[in-house]
Amino acid sequence: MVKKELGKLLELQDIDLRIRRLDEEIAKGYGDLDQRQAVIDARREEAVDLAERLEVVEKEKKDVEQELEEETIRFKDRQVKLMNVQTNREYQSLLKEIEGTKAANKQREEEILRYTEIGEAMVAKIELLNTTSDEEEKLLLAEKAKVAALAKELDKQKKEIDKARSEKADKVSPAIYKRYEQLRDRRNGMAIVGVTNGVCQGCYMNIPAQQYNEVLRGDQLHSCPTCQRMMYNKPEEEE
Ligand SMILES: [Zn+2]
Repeated sequence: MVKKELGKLLELQDIDLRIRRLDEEIAKGYGDLDQRQAVIDARREEAVDLAERLEVVEKEKKDVEQELEEETIRFKDRQVKLMNVQTNREYQSLLKEIEGTKAANKQREEEILRYTEIGEAMVAKIELLNTTSDEEEKLLLAEKAKVAALAKELDKQKKEIDKARSEKADKVSPAIYKRYEQLRDRRNGMAIVGVTNGVCQGCYMNIPAQQYNEVLRGDQLHSCPTCQRMMYNKPEEEE
C-alpha cells in the first residue's frame, strides 16, 4: 500500500521536476534578455550624460570666443590710438596695455583649442556609445524573438506534461498529495527522497537506526527528522 503510494509520488515528482526545469529555462531566457537590455540602457544613459557635459563645454568655449572677439576689437582700437598719442608716457602705457591684451588673447586662443579638442573627443565617444547601443539593440531584438519562440515551444511541452501530471496526481491520496505539494514548494522541488545506508539523500543527515529499519520495511510513510522530506529506501546499487 505505502510502496504503491511511494511509487506514484516518485512519478509525480519526476513530472514536477521536468516542469520546474522548463519554467527555469524560460525564466533564464527572459532574465538574460533583461540583463542585456540593462547594459544597453546604461550605455544610452552615459551618452545622454555626456551630451549634457558637452553642452557645458560648448557654452564655455563660446564665452571665451566672444571675449576674444571683444578683446580683438579693443586691441585694434588701441593700435589706432597708438598712432595719435602726444606724450611718451601715454605711448608707453598704451603699449603696455596692447602687450597685455596680446598675451591674454593668446591664452584665450589656446583655451578655445583645448575646448575644441575636449568637445571633439566627447562627440566621438557619444557616437560610439550610440552606435554600439544601436547594434546591440538589433542583436537583442533577434534574441528576443528567439526566446519568445523557445518559450512558446517549452510552454507546449509543459501543457503536454501537465495532462500526464493531473492523471498521476489524481491517483495519490489527498492527504499525502497535500503534504507532497507543501514539501515540494519548500524543498526545491524534492518532496520525496531516497535513504541510502541510513542517510537521507535530501539533506545528507543520518536517520535514527529504529526509523531506518522502518523505512527498510516500507509499511509506513516516514519523514526525515531533519528536512521533513518523505523517504523511501534507495539501495546503494541504484546510485
Ligand atoms: Zn533529510
